[in-house]
Amino acid sequence: MIGRLIAFDTVSRHSNLALIHWVRDYLEGLDVPCRLVHDESGAKANLFATIGPLDRPGIALSGHTDVVPVDGQDWQSDPFRAEVRDGRLYGRGSADMKSFIAIALALAPDAQRQGLKIPLHLALSYDEEVGCYGARRLLAEMKTWPQRPAACIIGEPTSMQVVTGHKGKHSYECRVHGLAGHSSLTHQGVNAVEAAAEIVAHIKSLARRHRDKGPFDPDFVPPYTTLHTGTIAGGTALNIVPAECRFAFEIRNLPGDDADALLAEIRDFAARHVEPEMQAVDRGTGVSFMTELGLPGLATAEDAEVTTLAKALAEANGTAKVSFGTEAGLFSDAGIPTIVCGPGSIEQAHKADEWIALEQIAAGESFVHRLLERVRG
Ligand SMILES: [Zn+2]
Repeated sequence: MIGRLIAFDTVSRHSNLALIHWVRDYLEGLDVPCRLVHDESGAKANLFATIGPLDRPGIALSGHTDVVPVDGQDWQSDPFRAEVRDGRLYGRGSADMKSFIAIALALAPDAQRQGLKIPLHLALSYDEEVGCYGARRLLAEMKTWPQRPAACIIGEPTSMQVVTGHKGKHSYECRVHGLAGHSSLTHQGVNAVEAAAEIVAHIKSLARRHRDKGPFDPDFVPPYTTLHTGTIAGGTALNIVPAECRFAFEIRNLPGDDADALLAEIRDFAARHVEPEMQAVDRGTGVSFMTELGLPGLATAEDAEVTTLAKALAEANGTAKVSFGTEAGLFSDAGIPTIVCGPGSIEQAHKADEWIALEQIAAGESFVHRLLERVRG
């Protein structure tokens, strides 16, 4: 089943419909009802299936069907053909996260045959890797349904650790609009690169403040909210005062630390300390901020039912927190208690020769087997 799913090239820029239609046909062949929730273009879809009774909320196993590109990566084998070597299964999506989906699908016939008391939902999404667009659409649609899952387990690769928390991720673009001029007459121009640099330096100072003063949560690496500028572009030639500059920055906040408040601080700095000097030369200059879709953090309680359940299924004593974002924050924000637990390691995700240990696949299977025992009642 893992090999079958890996064989669909579901890199996010492509349609995922071939995989989704295959899964739908497979599940409907078992008499498991499915519904598809398409994107605006119709080229991609989420799939939501329910095994067992339809009149009550159940437990959802959720995963994304898209994978990151292989462009420019040096693979030893075909990334879209699963290959087993030395106790590992290689292929794009083997760790992130087609193995988890495949395990759930492979056990669907068992689940259907046994007759479940508590329904088991399968929720497969598109476009996780490029902004969790599929999950956002699925969750918006779910609001109109009579039944929604009572809990959700997202099988991102955590080496089967039960993850109850992750940071939020918010990205922004800042555009600085200055005024061009001859570089011998700097007083007549408005230098957009310099204005941008002042804001970038301010973002860095906020990053230092969080590093040094917190708030801190020792379960995260690093244990504080981080800010960073990732790209910057501006200016055309050394002898021209640059009229335009834009840069992209992000905030990865501890759950409970407010990213909006941080952005407000950055905006306020630009309005008070950067724009007045620019606009004294030309009123048409200024700074604007664009917000990309954010991903909320996850902070599921240690004593939540879903946490207790997942710990029992994974035979884990403790829980963990991770620094990478997942769809779990969105599910949780939509009122569905959610944890992250799945086979494979994030260390192998997104790389050339992505792999999952066969032993992790076995651990994932045991996890879903134990879940089936529970929902059988
Ligand atoms: Zn993933």
